[in-house]
Amino acid sequence: MTKEELIKENQGFKLRIAEIEAEAQKAEARKKIIANVNKMLDRSLYELSVINKINKLLSKTLDYTEIIKDITHLLSEMVEYVASGILLWDDKTCLFKVYLRSPRNRGFISQFSEKASLRFAEFAGQSLPADKFLIEVANPELLIENETKGGIMGSFLASGLKVAEKTIGLICIAHTRTNGFSPEDTRLLELLANNSAIAIENGLLHKEIEELAITDGLTGLNNYRYFKESIHREIVRSSRYDLVFSLLLLDIDNFKMINDTYGHPKGDEVLSCLAKIIKNSFHREIDILARYGGEEFTIILPQTTRERAYTVAEKMRRDIEKGIFKQTGLPKPVTISCGIAQYPDDGRTEDKLIKSSDTALYLAKNSGKNRICLK
Ligand code: GH3
Ligand code: MG
Ligand code: MG
Repeated sequence: MTKEELIKENQGFKLRIAEIEAEAQKAEARKKIIANVNKMLDRSLYELSVINKINKLLSKTLDYTEIIKDITHLLSEMVEYVASGILLWDDKTCLFKVYLRSPRNRGFISQFSEKASLRFAEFAGQSLPADKFLIEVANPELLIENETKGGIMGSFLASGLKVAEKTIGLICIAHTRTNGFSPEDTRLLELLANNSAIAIENGLLHKEIEELAITDGLTGLNNYRYFKESIHREIVRSSRYDLVFSLLLLDIDNFKMINDTYGHPKGDEVLSCLAKIIKNSFHREIDILARYGGEEFTIILPQTTRERAYTVAEKMRRDIEKGIFKQTGLPKPVTISCGIAQYPDDGRTEDKLIKSSDTALYLAKNSGKNRICLK
Protein backbone atom coordinates (compact mmCIF):
# COMPACT_ATOMS: atom_id res chain seq x y z
CA MET A 1 0.00 0.00 0.00
CA THR A 2 1.37 3.40 -0.93
CA LYS A 3 1.70 6.23 1.57
CA GLU A 4 -1.15 8.17 -0.09
CA GLU A 5 -3.42 5.14 0.15
CA LEU A 6 -2.61 4.75 3.88
CA ILE A 7 -3.40 8.40 4.58
CA LYS A 8 -6.69 8.09 2.73
CA GLU A 9 -7.64 4.94 4.65
CA ASN A 10 -6.73 6.61 7.93
CA GLN A 11 -8.96 9.57 7.08
CA GLY A 12 -11.72 7.13 6.17
CA PHE A 13 -11.38 5.52 9.65
CA LYS A 14 -11.41 8.88 11.42
CA LEU A 15 -14.57 9.85 9.57
CA ARG A 16 -16.18 6.53 10.50
CA ILE A 17 -15.21 6.99 14.18
CA ALA A 18 -16.72 10.49 14.21
CA GLU A 19 -19.89 9.10 12.65
CA ILE A 20 -20.07 6.31 15.25
CA GLU A 21 -19.49 8.82 18.06
CA ALA A 22 -22.30 11.03 16.72
CA GLU A 23 -24.60 7.95 16.56
CA ALA A 24 -23.67 7.07 20.16
CA GLN A 25 -24.49 10.62 21.29
CA LYS A 26 -27.83 10.49 19.50
CA ALA A 27 -28.57 7.09 21.10
CA GLU A 28 -27.68 8.53 24.53
CA ALA A 29 -30.05 11.47 23.95
CA ARG A 30 -32.78 9.07 22.79
CA LYS A 31 -32.21 6.96 25.93
CA LYS A 32 -32.70 10.05 28.10
CA ILE A 33 -35.90 10.96 26.27
CA ILE A 34 -37.24 7.43 26.67
CA ALA A 35 -36.36 7.43 30.37
CA ASN A 36 -38.22 10.75 30.80
CA VAL A 37 -41.24 9.48 28.88
CA ASN A 38 -41.21 6.35 31.03
CA LYS A 39 -41.12 8.49 34.16
CA MET A 40 -44.03 10.58 32.89
CA LEU A 41 -45.97 7.44 31.97
CA ASP A 42 -45.28 5.98 35.41
CA ARG A 43 -46.56 9.18 37.02
CA SER A 44 -49.65 9.32 34.79
CA LEU A 45 -50.32 5.68 35.54
CA TYR A 46 -49.96 6.32 39.26
CA GLU A 47 -52.25 9.35 39.04
CA LEU A 48 -54.80 7.39 37.03
CA SER A 49 -54.72 4.64 39.63
CA VAL A 50 -55.24 7.29 42.33
CA ILE A 51 -58.24 8.74 40.43
CA ASN A 52 -59.58 5.24 40.00
CA LYS A 53 -59.20 4.56 43.72
CA ILE A 54 -60.95 7.85 44.59
CA ASN A 55 -63.84 7.07 42.26
CA LYS A 56 -64.22 3.56 43.68
CA LEU A 57 -64.19 4.82 47.24
CA LEU A 58 -66.54 7.69 46.59
CA SER A 59 -69.18 5.77 44.72
CA LYS A 60 -69.69 3.35 47.58
CA THR A 61 -71.38 5.76 50.01
CA LEU A 62 -73.37 9.00 50.27
CA ASP A 63 -72.51 9.50 53.93
CA TYR A 64 -70.20 12.52 53.97
CA THR A 65 -68.42 11.50 57.19
CA GLU A 66 -67.52 8.19 55.53
CA ILE A 67 -66.40 10.03 52.39
CA ILE A 68 -64.11 12.29 54.42
CA LYS A 69 -62.67 9.30 56.27
CA ASP A 70 -61.95 7.51 52.99
CA ILE A 71 -60.29 10.56 51.42
CA THR A 72 -58.10 10.98 54.48
CA HIS A 73 -57.09 7.35 54.34
CA LEU A 74 -56.16 7.61 50.66
CA LEU A 75 -54.19 10.79 51.30
CA SER A 76 -52.23 9.08 54.06
CA GLU A 77 -51.16 6.38 51.57
CA MET A 78 -49.96 8.97 49.04
CA VAL A 79 -48.15 11.69 50.99
CA GLU A 80 -46.12 11.82 54.19
CA TYR A 81 -47.40 14.35 56.78
CA VAL A 82 -48.18 14.61 60.50
CA ALA A 83 -51.74 15.99 60.35
CA SER A 84 -54.44 16.37 57.73
CA GLY A 85 -57.55 18.48 57.83
CA ILE A 86 -60.74 18.90 55.84
CA LEU A 87 -62.52 22.21 56.15
CA LEU A 88 -66.16 22.34 55.09
CA TRP A 89 -68.12 25.52 54.89
CA ASP A 90 -71.84 26.11 54.53
CA ASP A 91 -73.84 29.19 55.49
CA LYS A 92 -74.38 28.01 59.04
CA THR A 93 -71.14 26.43 60.17
CA CYS A 94 -67.57 25.88 59.23
CA LEU A 95 -66.29 22.50 60.33
CA PHE A 96 -62.57 21.79 60.40
CA LYS A 97 -62.02 18.09 60.89
CA VAL A 98 -58.46 17.23 61.85
CA TYR A 99 -56.87 13.79 61.59
CA LEU A 100 -53.61 13.35 63.47
CA ARG A 101 -51.04 10.78 62.42
CA SER A 102 -48.86 11.15 65.50
CA PRO A 103 -49.25 12.81 68.94
CA ARG A 104 -49.69 16.62 68.80
CA ASN A 105 -50.70 19.28 71.31
CA ARG A 106 -53.46 21.89 71.14
CA GLY A 107 -51.00 24.60 70.12
CA PHE A 108 -50.27 22.66 66.96
CA ILE A 109 -53.99 22.18 66.25
CA SER A 110 -54.72 25.91 66.60
CA GLN A 111 -51.74 26.80 64.38
CA PHE A 112 -53.01 24.31 61.80
CA SER A 113 -56.63 25.50 61.90
CA GLU A 114 -55.67 29.17 61.81
CA LYS A 115 -53.61 28.59 58.66
CA ALA A 116 -56.48 26.58 57.11
CA SER A 117 -58.93 29.38 57.82
CA LEU A 118 -56.61 31.98 56.24
CA ARG A 119 -56.02 29.84 53.14
CA PHE A 120 -59.75 29.26 52.79
CA ALA A 121 -60.30 33.02 52.84
CA GLU A 122 -57.76 33.33 50.00
CA PHE A 123 -59.40 30.57 47.94
CA ALA A 124 -62.99 31.64 48.53
CA GLY A 125 -62.46 35.38 48.60
CA GLN A 126 -64.32 35.71 51.90
CA SER A 127 -63.14 35.31 55.47
CA LEU A 128 -64.75 32.87 57.87
CA PRO A 129 -66.60 34.19 60.92
CA ALA A 130 -64.60 33.02 63.96
CA ASP A 131 -67.77 32.28 65.98
CA LYS A 132 -68.86 29.69 63.40
CA PHE A 133 -65.51 27.91 63.21
CA LEU A 134 -65.77 24.46 64.74
CA ILE A 135 -62.64 22.35 65.20
CA GLU A 136 -63.07 18.60 65.62
CA VAL A 137 -60.14 16.26 66.18
CA ALA A 138 -61.12 12.86 64.77
CA ASN A 139 -58.61 10.97 66.90
CA PRO A 140 -58.45 12.84 70.25
CA GLU A 141 -56.48 9.97 71.81
CA LEU A 142 -53.45 11.43 70.00
CA LEU A 143 -53.88 14.85 71.65
CA ILE A 144 -51.19 15.55 74.23
CA GLU A 145 -51.53 18.02 77.09
CA ASN A 146 -47.86 18.94 77.27
CA GLU A 147 -47.51 22.10 75.17
CA THR A 148 -43.73 21.78 74.93
CA LYS A 149 -44.02 18.41 73.16
CA GLY A 150 -45.57 17.61 69.80
CA GLY A 151 -43.56 20.07 67.72
CA ILE A 152 -44.61 23.20 65.89
CA MET A 153 -45.92 23.39 62.35
CA GLY A 154 -43.07 23.66 59.84
CA SER A 155 -44.91 23.28 56.53
CA PHE A 156 -48.48 23.60 55.35
CA LEU A 157 -50.06 22.59 52.05
CA ALA A 158 -53.67 23.20 51.00
CA SER A 159 -55.89 22.65 48.01
CA GLY A 160 -59.39 24.09 47.55
CA LEU A 161 -62.48 21.93 47.19
CA LYS A 162 -64.27 23.55 44.28
CA VAL A 163 -67.64 22.69 42.81
CA ALA A 164 -68.79 24.74 39.81
CA GLU A 165 -66.55 27.71 40.63
CA LYS A 166 -67.66 27.72 44.26
CA THR A 167 -65.15 26.87 46.99
CA ILE A 168 -66.94 24.59 49.47
CA GLY A 169 -63.89 23.77 51.53
CA LEU A 170 -60.25 22.89 51.72
CA ILE A 171 -58.06 19.82 52.11
CA CYS A 172 -54.81 20.52 53.88
CA ILE A 173 -51.83 18.76 55.38
CA ALA A 174 -49.12 19.85 57.78
CA HIS A 175 -45.62 18.77 58.68
CA THR A 176 -43.30 19.61 61.56
CA ARG A 177 -40.39 19.80 59.07
CA THR A 178 -39.79 23.02 57.14
CA ASN A 179 -39.97 22.41 53.38
CA GLY A 180 -41.78 19.21 54.28
CA PHE A 181 -43.59 18.92 50.95
CA SER A 182 -42.35 18.41 47.39
CA PRO A 183 -43.95 19.71 44.15
CA GLU A 184 -45.11 16.11 43.63
CA ASP A 185 -46.99 16.26 46.98
CA THR A 186 -48.67 19.49 45.81
CA ARG A 187 -49.78 17.78 42.58
CA LEU A 188 -51.16 14.76 44.45
CA LEU A 189 -53.08 16.89 46.94
CA GLU A 190 -54.61 18.89 44.08
CA LEU A 191 -55.49 15.69 42.25
CA LEU A 192 -57.26 14.37 45.33
CA ALA A 193 -59.07 17.66 46.00
CA ASN A 194 -60.21 18.04 42.37
CA ASN A 195 -61.58 14.53 42.21
CA SER A 196 -63.32 14.40 45.59
CA ALA A 197 -65.01 17.83 45.75
CA ILE A 198 -68.15 16.66 43.91
CA ALA A 199 -68.48 13.57 46.11
CA ILE A 200 -68.18 15.69 49.28
CA GLU A 201 -70.78 18.15 47.94
CA ASN A 202 -73.11 15.22 47.16
CA GLY A 203 -72.64 13.87 50.68
CA LEU A 204 -73.44 17.28 52.19
CA LEU A 205 -76.57 17.65 50.04
CA HIS A 206 -77.67 14.17 51.04
CA LYS A 207 -77.25 15.08 54.72
CA GLU A 208 -79.23 18.31 54.22
CA ILE A 209 -82.08 16.43 52.53
CA GLU A 210 -82.12 13.86 55.34
CA GLU A 211 -82.27 16.65 57.92
CA LEU A 212 -85.06 18.42 56.04
CA ALA A 213 -87.06 15.20 56.04
CA ILE A 214 -87.08 15.11 59.84
CA THR A 215 -87.36 18.84 60.54
CA ASP A 216 -90.47 20.93 61.02
CA GLY A 217 -90.27 23.91 58.70
CA LEU A 218 -91.88 26.52 60.93
CA THR A 219 -90.18 25.82 64.25
CA GLY A 220 -86.93 24.08 63.21
CA LEU A 221 -87.71 21.36 65.76
CA ASN A 222 -87.88 17.67 64.83
CA ASN A 223 -91.11 16.60 63.16
CA TYR A 224 -93.67 13.94 64.08
CA ARG A 225 -91.92 11.29 61.98
CA TYR A 226 -88.67 11.80 63.87
CA PHE A 227 -90.51 11.78 67.19
CA LYS A 228 -92.07 8.39 66.38
CA GLU A 229 -88.69 6.91 65.43
CA SER A 230 -87.13 8.37 68.57
CA ILE A 231 -89.70 7.13 71.06
CA HIS A 232 -89.37 3.67 69.55
CA ARG A 233 -85.58 3.79 69.90
CA GLU A 234 -85.83 5.13 73.47
CA ILE A 235 -88.18 2.35 74.56
CA VAL A 236 -85.85 -0.32 73.12
CA ARG A 237 -82.81 1.29 74.80
CA SER A 238 -84.49 1.89 78.18
CA SER A 239 -85.91 -1.60 78.29
CA ARG A 240 -82.52 -3.17 77.46
CA TYR A 241 -80.64 -1.20 80.14
CA ASP A 242 -83.52 -1.09 82.62
CA LEU A 243 -83.80 2.73 82.57
CA VAL A 244 -86.69 5.16 83.05
CA PHE A 245 -87.47 8.12 80.81
CA SER A 246 -90.12 10.85 80.73
CA LEU A 247 -92.42 11.90 77.93
CA LEU A 248 -93.90 15.42 77.91
CA LEU A 249 -96.87 16.47 75.78
CA LEU A 250 -97.48 20.19 75.62
CA ASP A 251 -100.34 22.21 74.13
CA ILE A 252 -100.84 25.97 73.83
CA ASP A 253 -103.80 27.29 75.82
CA ASN A 254 -106.58 29.00 73.83
CA PHE A 255 -104.47 29.12 70.70
CA LYS A 256 -107.51 29.27 68.44
CA MET A 257 -108.42 32.56 70.09
CA ILE A 258 -104.91 33.95 69.36
CA ASN A 259 -105.30 33.03 65.68
CA ASP A 260 -108.84 34.40 65.53
CA THR A 261 -107.95 37.68 67.25
CA TYR A 262 -104.50 38.50 65.84
CA GLY A 263 -104.42 36.43 62.65
CA HIS A 264 -102.55 33.29 61.57
CA PRO A 265 -99.19 35.00 60.95
CA LYS A 266 -99.14 36.15 64.58
CA GLY A 267 -100.10 32.58 65.56
CA ASP A 268 -97.10 31.30 63.58
CA GLU A 269 -94.85 33.81 65.32
CA VAL A 270 -96.08 32.49 68.69
CA LEU A 271 -95.27 28.93 67.58
CA SER A 272 -91.70 29.70 66.56
CA CYS A 273 -91.14 31.83 69.67
CA LEU A 274 -92.41 28.96 71.82
CA ALA A 275 -90.06 26.54 70.04
CA LYS A 276 -87.08 28.76 70.92
CA ILE A 277 -88.05 28.82 74.60
CA ILE A 278 -88.46 25.02 74.58
CA LYS A 279 -84.97 24.67 73.03
CA ASN A 280 -83.51 26.91 75.74
CA SER A 281 -85.21 24.89 78.48
CA PHE A 282 -83.68 21.53 77.55
CA HIS A 283 -79.92 21.74 77.14
CA ARG A 284 -78.89 18.09 77.12
CA GLU A 285 -77.92 16.76 73.73
CA ILE A 286 -79.84 13.53 74.42
CA ASP A 287 -83.20 15.31 74.93
CA ILE A 288 -85.46 15.06 71.90
CA LEU A 289 -87.74 18.00 71.11
CA ALA A 290 -90.41 17.71 68.43
CA ARG A 291 -93.48 19.38 67.04
CA TYR A 292 -96.19 16.75 67.47
CA GLY A 293 -98.59 18.62 65.20
CA GLY A 294 -100.47 21.94 65.10
CA GLU A 295 -99.82 23.69 68.43
CA GLU A 296 -98.74 20.55 70.26
CA PHE A 297 -95.16 19.70 71.12
CA THR A 298 -93.51 16.68 72.66
CA ILE A 299 -90.27 16.18 74.55
CA ILE A 300 -88.48 12.91 75.36
CA LEU A 301 -86.19 13.15 78.37
CA PRO A 302 -84.00 10.02 78.52
CA GLN A 303 -82.95 8.74 81.96
CA THR A 304 -85.21 11.26 83.70
CA THR A 305 -87.86 10.53 86.34
CA ARG A 306 -91.26 12.25 86.08
CA GLU A 307 -90.46 14.27 89.25
CA ARG A 308 -87.25 15.65 87.72
CA ALA A 309 -89.09 16.24 84.43
CA TYR A 310 -91.79 18.14 86.33
CA THR A 311 -89.21 20.51 87.85
CA VAL A 312 -87.67 21.33 84.46
CA ALA A 313 -91.08 21.61 82.76
CA GLU A 314 -92.35 23.93 85.50
CA LYS A 315 -89.44 26.31 84.86
CA MET A 316 -90.15 26.12 81.12
CA ARG A 317 -93.85 26.88 81.76
CA ARG A 318 -92.90 30.06 83.64
CA ASP A 319 -90.39 31.06 80.94
CA ILE A 320 -93.11 30.64 78.29
CA GLU A 321 -95.63 32.68 80.29
CA LYS A 322 -93.14 35.57 80.50
CA GLY A 323 -91.23 35.07 77.23
CA ILE A 324 -93.84 34.91 74.44
CA PHE A 325 -95.70 37.90 75.85
CA LYS A 326 -92.47 39.90 75.90
CA GLN A 327 -91.15 38.79 72.50
CA THR A 328 -94.30 38.90 70.37
CA GLY A 329 -95.77 42.12 71.79
CA LEU A 330 -99.13 40.44 72.45
CA PRO A 331 -101.21 42.26 75.10
CA LYS A 332 -101.70 39.13 77.24
CA PRO A 333 -99.34 36.24 78.20
CA VAL A 334 -99.56 33.05 76.15
CA THR A 335 -99.55 29.95 78.33
CA ILE A 336 -99.23 26.22 77.86
CA SER A 337 -100.52 23.08 79.55
CA CYS A 338 -98.38 19.98 79.78
CA GLY A 339 -98.81 16.32 80.66
CA ILE A 340 -95.98 14.03 81.79
CA ALA A 341 -95.78 10.25 81.67
CA GLN A 342 -92.91 8.00 82.75
CA TYR A 343 -91.61 4.87 81.04
CA PRO A 344 -92.20 2.08 81.99
CA ASP A 345 -94.58 2.88 84.90
CA ASP A 346 -97.20 4.76 82.83
CA GLY A 347 -96.89 2.58 79.72
CA ARG A 348 -94.50 0.05 78.24
CA THR A 349 -95.48 0.59 74.60
CA GLU A 350 -95.33 3.76 72.49
CA ASP A 351 -99.11 3.97 72.19
CA LYS A 352 -99.76 3.43 75.90
CA LEU A 353 -97.11 5.95 76.95
CA ILE A 354 -98.36 8.61 74.53
CA LYS A 355 -101.93 7.96 75.71
CA SER A 356 -100.80 8.42 79.33
CA SER A 357 -99.13 11.76 78.59
CA ASP A 358 -102.29 12.81 76.73
CA THR A 359 -104.44 11.87 79.75
CA ALA A 360 -102.13 13.97 81.97
CA LEU A 361 -102.44 16.88 79.50
CA TYR A 362 -106.22 16.54 79.56
CA LEU A 363 -106.06 16.75 83.34
CA ALA A 364 -104.03 19.96 83.10
CA LYS A 365 -106.54 21.50 80.66
CA ASN A 366 -109.53 20.48 82.77
CA SER A 367 -108.11 21.80 86.00
CA GLY A 368 -107.66 25.36 84.75
CA LYS A 369 -104.82 25.28 82.07
CA ASN A 370 -101.36 26.94 82.43
CA ARG A 371 -100.09 24.00 84.48
CA ILE A 372 -98.19 20.73 84.39
CA CYS A 373 -99.79 17.44 85.44
CA LEU A 374 -98.36 13.97 86.00
CA LYS A 375 -100.31 10.91 84.90
P1 GH3 B 1 -107.01 24.59 74.32
O1 GH3 B 1 -106.58 25.55 75.37
O2 GH3 B 1 -108.09 23.69 74.79
O3 GH3 B 1 -105.90 23.83 73.76
O4 GH3 B 1 -107.64 25.46 73.17
P2 GH3 B 1 -107.04 25.76 71.75
O5 GH3 B 1 -107.76 26.91 71.19
O6 GH3 B 1 -105.57 25.92 71.85
O7 GH3 B 1 -107.30 24.40 71.03
P3 GH3 B 1 -107.81 24.01 69.61
O8 GH3 B 1 -107.39 22.61 69.35
O9 GH3 B 1 -109.27 24.30 69.52
O10 GH3 B 1 -107.03 24.96 68.61
C1 GH3 B 1 -105.82 24.70 68.07
C2 GH3 B 1 -105.60 25.69 66.98
O11 GH3 B 1 -104.27 25.66 66.49
C3 GH3 B 1 -106.48 25.47 65.80
C4 GH3 B 1 -105.55 25.64 64.59
O12 GH3 B 1 -106.09 26.57 63.68
C5 GH3 B 1 -104.31 26.19 65.19
N1 GH3 B 1 -103.11 25.79 64.48
C6 GH3 B 1 -102.66 24.54 64.24
N2 GH3 B 1 -101.50 24.58 63.53
C7 GH3 B 1 -101.21 25.90 63.31
C8 GH3 B 1 -100.18 26.58 62.63
O13 GH3 B 1 -99.23 25.99 62.07
N3 GH3 B 1 -100.20 27.94 62.61
C9 GH3 B 1 -101.21 28.62 63.21
N4 GH3 B 1 -101.18 29.95 63.17
N5 GH3 B 1 -102.21 28.01 63.84
C10 GH3 B 1 -102.24 26.67 63.90
MG1 MG C 1 -104.37 21.20 70.56
MG1 MG D 1 -104.45 24.29 72.44
